[in-house]
Amino acid sequence: MRRSSLVLFVFLFFLLGAANDQAPLAGYSRDSSRTERDWETKFRAIPTPANIREYNQRLSARPHHVGSPYDKDNAEWMLGQLKGWGLDAQIENFQVLFPTPKERVVELVAPTKFVAKLQEPPVAVDPTSNQQNEQLPTYNAYSIDGDVTAPLVYVNYGIPEDYDRLQRLGVSVKGAIVIARYGHSWRGIKPKVAAEHGAVGCIIYSDPREDGYFQDDVFPQGPMRPREGVQRGSVMDMPTYPGDPLTPGVGATANAKRLALKDVPTITKIPVLPISYGDAQPLLAALKGSMAPQEWRGSLPFPYRVGPGQAKVHLRVQSNWDLKTLYDVIVKIPGAQYPDEWVVRGNHHDAWVNGSQDPVSGTSPLLEEARGLADLLKQGWKPKRTIIYCIWDGEEPGLLGSTEWAEEHADELRQHAVMYVNTDSNDRGPLMALGSHSLEHFINGVTQDITDPEKNMPVAKRAYLFAIAHSKTEEERKRAREGSDFRIEALGSGSDYTVFIDHLGIASLNLAYCCEDQQGIYHSIYDDFYWYTHFADTDFVYGRALAQTVGTAVMRMADADLLPYNFSNFANTVHLYVDELQKLLKEKQEESVERDKELDEGVYEATSDPKHPTVAPPREDIPPHLNFAPLENALDMLTRSAERYEKDFTKAEQSGALASGGPPVEKVNQLLIQSERRLTDPNGLPHRPWFKHMIYAPGYYTGYGAKTIPGVREAIEQRQWQLADTEIVRVAKVLTDEAALIDSASAALEGIAPK
Ligand SMILES: [Zn+2]
Repeated sequence: MRRSSLVLFVFLFFLLGAANDQAPLAGYSRDSSRTERDWETKFRAIPTPANIREYNQRLSARPHHVGSPYDKDNAEWMLGQLKGWGLDAQIENFQVLFPTPKERVVELVAPTKFVAKLQEPPVAVDPTSNQQNEQLPTYNAYSIDGDVTAPLVYVNYGIPEDYDRLQRLGVSVKGAIVIARYGHSWRGIKPKVAAEHGAVGCIIYSDPREDGYFQDDVFPQGPMRPREGVQRGSVMDMPTYPGDPLTPGVGATANAKRLALKDVPTITKIPVLPISYGDAQPLLAALKGSMAPQEWRGSLPFPYRVGPGQAKVHLRVQSNWDLKTLYDVIVKIPGAQYPDEWVVRGNHHDAWVNGSQDPVSGTSPLLEEARGLADLLKQGWKPKRTIIYCIWDGEEPGLLGSTEWAEEHADELRQHAVMYVNTDSNDRGPLMALGSHSLEHFINGVTQDITDPEKNMPVAKRAYLFAIAHSKTEEERKRAREGSDFRIEALGSGSDYTVFIDHLGIASLNLAYCCEDQQGIYHSIYDDFYWYTHFADTDFVYGRALAQTVGTAVMRMADADLLPYNFSNFANTVHLYVDELQKLLKEKQEESVERDKELDEGVYEATSDPKHPTVAPPREDIPPHLNFAPLENALDMLTRSAERYEKDFTKAEQSGALASGGPPVEKVNQLLIQSERRLTDPNGLPHRPWFKHMIYAPGYYTGYGAKTIPGVREAIEQRQWQLADTEIVRVAKVLTDEAALIDSASAALEGIAPK
């Protein structure tokens, strides 16, 4: 043996030795960690881009919205595939309210006449864009029926601050039809806020600035929204409650008790329709009145004005208010050791039209994961916990399939569910992870073992570096660099995790590779296989990465000896949320003081242009100081408990105590399962009791974005000081309870780990 070979040999020996001696996975004994790593490696070799491509083409071949023939056909096809792989799969049905349009009219009736087309034309190169017989017309589901003619007012994104600005411009929307552009809020917020300000109708259009030619070439030359492209979508008041509007809080089974249509609170108060920028152009161009503020202007070729003026619009919407059947496909893999602990994984299958991107780019990797797990089962893998794969129907209209299923199985889920992992569409780019902060460390561990297809580095590392690059402030950058984990953001709403995290208090994650590709086909007929294979993850390698990521997460949670939650990241992040609340209150106080000062000084009078007069803002009370002490005390307790638990967790792992497993470890797991549930309050949030999580919720006036510590935050935003005080105490209570639960888990761990 030559000397150089000897060196190489010793080096290789060292490398192999090191690989065998990898640190155990969090929550695993040394032995079970080695076994787990072997199974996970086998699993990750199974998914192929070719299969994911094939599923995508099949599932997106025809329009498949709720109630359509191909929606049912897809569900049955997936059921057949899953059964064919040897899995125990079934379809669960629900009967839900899902309106589809009968009549839609948008027309300018003065000063000139223009009738909106409300029609997306087929594109010659795109083979599924001409399936007009099966396409749902462009509309907003759960708009109330109505027929109104009124002056038009442009309201920018139609969110509350836009109306404050309108008030300063001296413009009222009372009795008007508003036209808002898509963006900056979930779409259902726009008609809700418009109605609260007295508008009688609402039109939502896609401005080319957001997802049209301002961004890139339009379809089919490029990925962006063409002139006649329209974003369909639900306008149900989901921040009040999602799911079937007729059966809040219970599963929409055939015999469920249903609200009368007239008593449903989540249908809009005024009629609403979405339109393309082709249709919006003549309407906006007819507006007179003040110029729209600089930031309100889009990319259409005329001066943006606010109105009103002579421009008058006729808006008419009539829907079919039938019940439709949902087809949720549910797969159960029973746990060998802890069958009563469930790991739940889901993605929806229904689309607004063909939906190759939304949702099929997520549904297809899910199928490939299921095939991979089925393969492992045949090879002898026995997951410790029960795994449930769910392919939801009816996500698009209002998270119908997931909400109804979870409401129907609420008691079991509250007892058994360990984690819910959601995906909904996938593209190219770094991993975007949102979720419960107690799972932050866990998903970091998982993604250290997944290779990014473009960068050939661990997905976790790319996400960590991406966070540094995208930090907006020095403070954010510091936080991104703190520790070795990439941070995950809180969940609001916007996909099927909502019922799990917000209503039931189940630790949840939402995962996607995302955002390198621009897209302007969202909820249009152009979101199809042609578009996806030209402008997104065209070779489906990120589809494979998604299947590998989520499959590994599911396996690792299902097989752990000790559930790998980590509360230090949680405590640390909740600290940040509380700091934000205090900062918010301080800003409100400073704003009020400054405004009063300017009113006293006569600033508003002096700056109002007599030719375009503006109105001074109203005087408001200066916000009082609030007592955050209960919250801060609870946080200190939580931080101490989390630190103690982390020490005990590490000790239990290192001492070999996990290897013996048995009742003592089971007892810790039983406590841990309830840890996210502890953060819920059975009375729910003020004014919306369906939302029970005290730390995460969608904003009442933003929709999808997360509001953290929503009860307190919204009380401050809405200047309800007494309510803010009450909410602080309620949040302090759940955090104190959480700390107590974590302490019990620590005590149980200290009992089993040798001193
Ligand atoms: Zn979706």
